Amino acid sequence: MPDGTPPRPPLARTLRSAEDLHAAGLLPEAAMAGVTAVSTRYSIAVTPGVAALIDPADPADPIARQYLPHPDELVTAPHEQADPTADAPFTPLPGVVHRYPDRALLKPLLACPVYCRFCFRREAVGPDGGLLTEAQLEAALDWFARTPAVREAILTGGDPLMLSARRLGTILQRLAALPHIELLRIHSRVPVAAPGLVTPALAAALELEKPLYLCVHANHAREFTPSARAALGRLHRAGVVLLGQSVLLRGVNDSAEALEALFRAMLRARVKPYYLHQLDPAPGTARFHVPVEEGLALLRALRGRVSGLAWPTYVQETPGGGGKVPLGPALG
Ligand SMILES: *Cc1c(COP(=O)(O)O)cnc(C)c1O
Ligand code: SF4
Repeated sequence: MPDGTPPRPPLARTLRSAEDLHAAGLLPEAAMAGVTAVSTRYSIAVTPGVAALIDPADPADPIARQYLPHPDELVTAPHEQADPTADAPFTPLPGVVHRYPDRALLKPLLACPVYCRFCFRREAVGPDGGLLTEAQLEAALDWFARTPAVREAILTGGDPLMLSARRLGTILQRLAALPHIELLRIHSRVPVAAPGLVTPALAAALELEKPLYLCVHANHAREFTPSARAALGRLHRAGVVLLGQSVLLRGVNDSAEALEALFRAMLRARVKPYYLHQLDPAPGTARFHVPVEEGLALLRALRGRVSGLAWPTYVQETPGGGGKVPLGPALG
């Protein structure tokens, strides 16, 4: 926010359309038709907290870039695929993805607090649909019960922290009660995008007898607001181990300075940077692409400059479902 600009009052609700974004002063009238066209294909959600972080006077605002739709999203580049991580062949039943022998994903819902414009699951996520029915959830939990090779249950989606404390607590307890499940993990953007959802009841639901890791998805230092840090503090006090995952994004964090600030902000919020993802080629995301060589050079520039605790592993998804591979940079 430039000096002298009075802070905008917080919005009462999440913005979900071109009209909402325009009314909140985040979208000029001339851009509304393009955003409306995008909204027929991809969901829009900007929470009040995220909206307050955007500087509408800055056309290159790194927060706006992550969340405000752009007409280029309707242009699919030749290399882009609807299911870039190729989850489908590894889906034994609805809501379960089993790609690696010792760990499997459970996707209890496909709603998120915000819809990121670069999301690799953008063809699947959205506010309606994707919530497993009771019968589907039972079948998924039963699959975990009869798959003893799986030691780690990873809840993702969508965003599992969008569930009620009671429902999420039940799922976690059921999984943690299985003798072969050694650890649990949740992937979530809620602590930075909708920290108010991390209520004391939700934090209490995450207190388990078995280790629970929470991978917090954040891409810019400014996302670690006082409310986000407070939410992460509540999770930490509940015994949750906090890890950070980020995506390398053009115009958001594609400089050594931006990455350094991001990883330092994570550490101050008790979050250990875990993964820096090379962008998966989901449709209409080409404007965020940073070549791998550039990513490696950025990480090399951080060497010696930041604590080793700040270093994530830079990873790329192999096309066609081969899984994640570390890209380096090579040590030494
Ligand atoms: C990324 C991913 C995991 C977890 O991998 P880690 O390297 O252990 O973080 C598990 N299953 C699927 C399908 C994944 O894409
Ligand atoms: S929160 Fe995660 S799953 Fe949801 S839109 Fe963003 S990147 Fe995709």
